[in-house]
Amino acid sequence: MAESGKTPTVVEIPSMLSVRDLAVRVKVSPINIIRELMNNGVMASINQQIDFETAAIVLQGLGFEPREEKHVEEATPEDLSGTLWQRLYAREDPARLKPRPPVVTVMGHVDHGKTSLLDAIRHTDVVAGEAGGITQHIGAYQVEHNGRKITFLDTPGHEAFTAMRARGAQATDIAILVVAADDSVMPQTKEAIAHAHAAHVPIIVALNKIDRANANPERVKKDLHTAGVVIDEYGGDVLCVLVSAKQKKGIDDLLEAILLVADSRDIKANPDRLAVGTVIEGRLDKSLGPVATVMVQNGTLKVGDGLVLGNIAGRVRTMHDSKGKPIQQALPSTPAVVSGLGGVPDAGDQFEAVKDEKTAKVIVAERISARASDKTIRKTLTLADLFNRVQAGEVKELPIILKADVQGSIEPIVNQLEKLSNDQVKIKMLQTGNGTIGENDVQLAIASGAIVIGFNVDADGPARRLADSESVDIRKYDIIYKLTDDIQKAMTGMLEPVYREVILGVAEVRQTFKIKGTGTIAGCIIREGVAQRNASARLKRDGQVLHESGLSSLKHLTEDVKEVKTGFECGIALANFQEYKKGDLIEFYTKEKVQ
Ligand code: GDP
Repeated sequence: MAESGKTPTVVEIPSMLSVRDLAVRVKVSPINIIRELMNNGVMASINQQIDFETAAIVLQGLGFEPREEKHVEEATPEDLSGTLWQRLYAREDPARLKPRPPVVTVMGHVDHGKTSLLDAIRHTDVVAGEAGGITQHIGAYQVEHNGRKITFLDTPGHEAFTAMRARGAQATDIAILVVAADDSVMPQTKEAIAHAHAAHVPIIVALNKIDRANANPERVKKDLHTAGVVIDEYGGDVLCVLVSAKQKKGIDDLLEAILLVADSRDIKANPDRLAVGTVIEGRLDKSLGPVATVMVQNGTLKVGDGLVLGNIAGRVRTMHDSKGKPIQQALPSTPAVVSGLGGVPDAGDQFEAVKDEKTAKVIVAERISARASDKTIRKTLTLADLFNRVQAGEVKELPIILKADVQGSIEPIVNQLEKLSNDQVKIKMLQTGNGTIGENDVQLAIASGAIVIGFNVDADGPARRLADSESVDIRKYDIIYKLTDDIQKAMTGMLEPVYREVILGVAEVRQTFKIKGTGTIAGCIIREGVAQRNASARLKRDGQVLHESGLSSLKHLTEDVKEVKTGFECGIALANFQEYKKGDLIEFYTKEKVQ
């Protein structure tokens, strides 16, 4: 604590933080912070989020000079994780940037009304109404409000949002968090908050179903506060709009709020250049062949432009807007269905327009050969390489996704982990929750360069496969101490490498021989795989392991050999073992380093 009479110590704090975080930052006991808050008439628990103004009063009371840290939501594109933003806008001359419509994603818990809200917004749009017919679902649509356009991605949910981010796309400017007024904050609401925060995307709360007799907006606002979303009424900067998707009430207010948030941020692009953007979805059309909904994020896409979409080349043959109307060009933030592609691209692929199709084909060919020779630059973080990457200045924080079997385990683990942050690397709890590790958790890990920790829980099949293919580090623990110990070791470069066992083959003992001077030899047949002289082996009888060691001899007929393959007979002697019995199985294995 700073002493009076001396120059007060300057501390930088964010616009919102928990009492615990504040205590850690200024190295003061949380009790003292809570006491100081109480002196100022604020009752707060250790986990409660407090805003900068409140924290500032406490800090001044404790003799510090508080300053507001750069707000996380004001992060510049360069601060954001994806390289796409850098490619999109970073090198643009600010004078050429013009406002573009905000791109909005709707998130929230299942059944809270995301789909209904997207429908309601679409149908209040006068222009869509005038167009008459039912508009096709193309993955995104635009509406007009007070003469200004807003783009909605109409696959709701943070899963789609994060899957796109995992592919390097950063398509959303604003997230609408739908919370049912009769149900309040639910597990997926919390997940959505974590995913939006991880992507540095500002949130607007749509408090839905206010028509319901049991709607309780005040309770939802309080619960949101506890979950780290502080609405303006509570002194935060998150707008909260009451809506009923069913009765189409409050929709105008919501659109107004979106434009307000858009105005407070630099949502701009340069329309005078070749287009770049993201594929929202791709499909095979019966008459048009491969088509894709693309969202232009910078530049203007024109009919006739060459196109590179991931590893697919093409030329814009036709282009339609979200109302099915043919268009000649698509400006920034405009979703458009394009045909003329050499294949169906994936959602989240980035695209860029080039001079013509020939150029596109050359780029794709180069890209494919570059990728084949590239040993893939790893974006994901593993505990094993954490220390080296911190030393190299590449990494300043360790983002963690924690899944546990019971809710009660989460808080003590988070408490312990947060204590491990040091000057070089900060532990950042990206998301916590209970239940199995799912694909969605792995997607968030890929998108944010995080590691996944399972406490007494496993990863399901799809999550495991995705983690393997993308080299996401999933660690499983059943003792908190072991978990924190590993993280600490990883942070200080002391983590022992992890080895994985690889089974090479299995032999079955058919008979035994006694050989003078050598001892007992097991006459075996190799049932599967191979037996290797240098491998480790374990002898199993009735499913029980009786012995584990290396081999002292491996012979085929009378020859010493290095390896014996499936179906062949051989003589095996394990080191320090003689008591073989017919029917015993000998398993051969090696250990390979993970990562
Ligand atoms: P999603 O899973 O979040 O996409 O939720 P849906 O849009 O499918 O809505 C779930 C259920 O809530 C449906 O039965 C909707 O009719 C109902 N619902 C959605 N919005 C409202 C609303 O504003 N008021 C009422 N009373 N029901 C709603």
